[in-house]
Amino acid sequence: MNEPLLKITDKILHARKTSSKEIKQLYLCDDLPLFDLLWAANKIRGKFKTNKVELCSIVNAKSGNCSEDCKFCAQSIHHNTKIERYPLLDEQSILKAAKSARANSATCFGMVTSGKRIQKPKEISGICKAVKMIRTKIPSMKCSVSLGAIDKRSLSRLKEAGIKKIHHNLETSENYFPNVCTTHTYEERLKTLRAAKKLGIRLCSGGIFGLGESRTDRLDLAFTLRELDVDSVPLNFLHPVKGTALENSVPMAVSEILRTIAIFRLILPKKDIKVCGGRAVNLRSMQSMIFFAGANGMMIGNYLTQAGQDSKTDLKMIKDLGLRVTGGDDNAEIY
Ligand code: SF4
Repeated sequence: MNEPLLKITDKILHARKTSSKEIKQLYLCDDLPLFDLLWAANKIRGKFKTNKVELCSIVNAKSGNCSEDCKFCAQSIHHNTKIERYPLLDEQSILKAAKSARANSATCFGMVTSGKRIQKPKEISGICKAVKMIRTKIPSMKCSVSLGAIDKRSLSRLKEAGIKKIHHNLETSENYFPNVCTTHTYEERLKTLRAAKKLGIRLCSGGIFGLGESRTDRLDLAFTLRELDVDSVPLNFLHPVKGTALENSVPMAVSEILRTIAIFRLILPKKDIKVCGGRAVNLRSMQSMIFFAGANGMMIGNYLTQAGQDSKTDLKMIKDLGLRVTGGDDNAEIY
């Protein structure tokens, strides 16, 4: 076993902080056997997350027509994609999606809207109403929102309605971000996250990989998330959609995806690390390896514009591994 890896693993298991330099040496070393790294990540997941898996589910509450030019996104007006486009769903439709998510054993439900930000106060009111309905009808479901940039006033309204967590991805490193999006800045993304944190709202923020970024970019993202002290880290892997700027991207190798998940577990040992978009398409028969690589959660059901894998298959995979879905067969754990 690689000596520096053993030392770092021991350090993390004893809750001592690692430096970016020592983790960088590991991640940038091609000679480090993948299975040694996965062994370490799995040990750390086992220590801090036990054998529980948290499932999240989302609804695309407002689809398409986004002014932004995120190169991977099928909802951008800068891309010519065949997706469904519609304005904000009504509360009953959102509630229906939340019920279906809970039936699939998800305990975290995200309402996602396209666009740089929600412009109309009426839309924030609709979302707050939906949140209140879900909290009343499905008390075991945690609600989060992903509405792009959110100002302090709207954050306070969402908090009052019962939102405990907001989702806002940083997507990649600050350095690489201009290659991914030119219509808004990294700083604007950080601003929303910092404002939410200040109000005591939990943060769900991660990124998308396979955009042409380097390993150093991935490390920079992970350390920025550590600095922000986010609570959940969704990891997405590019599923190239026809008509987007990245439609011809070469998919990441499975081993590279697993290596990346493992490095995130080493950098963020106690956080919820969830594998979300692009799981089935990129990992195929290797999907169960995400837990050995250190993930303790995943998204179930459909993605924003793409269909997900059948939920029964996902739940069977978790059961077959001897892992247990949080709140799936016992009292849901709600923060
Ligand atoms: S990722 Fe969000 S902000 Fe970027 S184009 Fe897609 S919907 Fe718009």
